[in-house]
Amino acid sequence: MLRKNRLFTPGPTPLLPAAQTAMASFTAHHRTADFRALFQRVLADMKDFIGTRNDVLVLACSGTGVMEASISNLTSPGDKVLVLTAGKFGERWTGLAKAFRCNVEVVNVPYGETFSLNDIQTKLTPDVRAVFMQATESSTGVRHDVEGIAKIVRANGADTLLVVDAITGLGTTHLDVDRWGVDFIIGGSQKALMIPPGLAYCAVSERAWQRMETTSSPRFYFDLRKERKSAAKGESAYTPATSLFAALGAALEFIRQMGNGDLSKGREALVNNAELCAEMTRAGVQALGLKLFAASPAAALTAVCSPAGLDSGKIIKEFRESFDAVVANGQGEMKGQMFRIAHIGYYDYLDTIGILAALEHVLTRCTGKAVEYGAAVRAAQEVYAREMSKKRQLVGA
Ligand SMILES: *Cc1c(COP(=O)(O)O)cnc(C)c1O
Repeated sequence: MLRKNRLFTPGPTPLLPAAQTAMASFTAHHRTADFRALFQRVLADMKDFIGTRNDVLVLACSGTGVMEASISNLTSPGDKVLVLTAGKFGERWTGLAKAFRCNVEVVNVPYGETFSLNDIQTKLTPDVRAVFMQATESSTGVRHDVEGIAKIVRANGADTLLVVDAITGLGTTHLDVDRWGVDFIIGGSQKALMIPPGLAYCAVSERAWQRMETTSSPRFYFDLRKERKSAAKGESAYTPATSLFAALGAALEFIRQMGNGDLSKGREALVNNAELCAEMTRAGVQALGLKLFAASPAAALTAVCSPAGLDSGKIIKEFRESFDAVVANGQGEMKGQMFRIAHIGYYDYLDTIGILAALEHVLTRCTGKAVEYGAAVRAAQEVYAREMSKKRQLVGA
């Protein structure tokens, strides 16, 4: 059969066609009125996308670049910081903080699990200058309790900043950044924003801006104070990724349309979409007797344990060969144990039903055992039907 290449990976994610067209035709030089207008519109819209009144910066780098910027701008060598780690991306925080010679304390839980607030409380002494965490740990499919953790970090006093890698969290998870008191939240273009890799962004609280005046870690390209000054004039400090800004403008317009002209409502709709795709997927895989890897699963992606004795690499290969669908393997030590199906950004009902139907064939091929065709699809359809009837009741139709 004809096969269409489709990404089900937690970044890069499927591209929005309108964003691709916008970037293909974009030519403006970055020091012109036209580009300045686009740049300012995008930065203002990004506040609504994130759901914050804090300053937003958009930089030319992958997500890790802005993770590094948060460390280099907010810490000094020797600062005590607390890293909450439950997977490969949590471990990245530890590596970054050590590279900038922070004194790193860690709350470490096994892959697939999330933190107990008690464990965090115990390590959260008044001298902790910053706490680093993920909103959703993409390597395990786990959702962390940003609200609960923010509450205890805020109670620790104004000297402890909270930095959240929400690179797969933004656009898939309801986050109330300002009300919860998140000081620095990070996102990336190749996730829920539905555009190619190359931009990463952050929203920075007043507390965090003040911290930057006293910290001494080395920084140059990622000196955020410089970017903030330029942004106030409608420019970036260095050459911005101009065509990606054009793509981002189109993506934000699409999200605004999802909210019938209200970008904040569009963000909520995009998150609800991911939540529903994820719930359908969880119901589908469980109907096939498969187990979820995550104790508290995120809407960003569903990590599914490979059946006992079957290397998940085989499942991934079969998805690729039979359907040209790209599903992610486990990372690092988790490789071979799981496969990960993402719901970040541009996914709809047919994508979700399609990947579950394909999974039924893939499992039949890989296990050599007959899978009951339609079982996963049916479970997902039931979730969808339930959700739609709930919605109709809400509008009284
Ligand atoms: C994708 C991702 C990143 C960033 O990775 P880059 O390759 O640098 O863009 C960071 N954290 C999480 C949780 C991610 O999913």
